[in-house]
Amino acid sequence: MRAIDHGLGCCPTCHQIVRFPTRTEGAVTALCPRCGSEVHPRKPGAIQNTWALVLASILFYIPANLLPMMHVHTFAGTQSDTIMSGVIYFMETGSYLIGSVIFIASIFVPVLKILILIYLLLSVQRGWAGRYHERKRLYQLTELVGRWSMVDVYVVSIMIALVHFGGLTEIKAGLGAVFFLLVVVVTMFAAMQFDPRLIWDPPKETHARHP
Ligand SMILES: [Zn+2]
Repeated sequence: MRAIDHGLGCCPTCHQIVRFPTRTEGAVTALCPRCGSEVHPRKPGAIQNTWALVLASILFYIPANLLPMMHVHTFAGTQSDTIMSGVIYFMETGSYLIGSVIFIASIFVPVLKILILIYLLLSVQRGWAGRYHERKRLYQLTELVGRWSMVDVYVVSIMIALVHFGGLTEIKAGLGAVFFLLVVVVTMFAAMQFDPRLIWDPPKETHARHP
């Protein structure tokens, strides 16, 4: 039994329980009697907004991987590295741990997060029943990853710090780092925009609210 079935909702600001004026679930809005915030049975436009942010993060992911992450200036010349060429460099020089950390944080995790969000969006949009527990855990995983997403950003700083030990070198972040930061931030917002309560809504209702 869901709060929505009783015409009840929860204020997003102060968590006051709010009664909706009607039991129809279309575009119902109520005002919180305690703090005056707008209360909706589900996050308005959750599916559309999450899709938009997921697509944006896919677009940003391409230049993040293709453009140089950093430029290293030494007396011997300038070397530019993408994420993948950095990973290959560390693997070839025997730094398997650093190579693996960069690969997992920068290449594997963003792709995993994007794929999970696409799966959750499709499952909710198509009104798939079942696998509730599994989908809930996948959603929690994206939240957990969100909390650790900044690790990806630190990877660049760590790489810069590591190379600084060499001395006589100058390192500048490349344009790839900017797009990479965008991927991290945009996927974080995408996970926040998704409304996990949609997972348990029957298919008919989901379609009625999101035609
Ligand atoms: Zn309130």
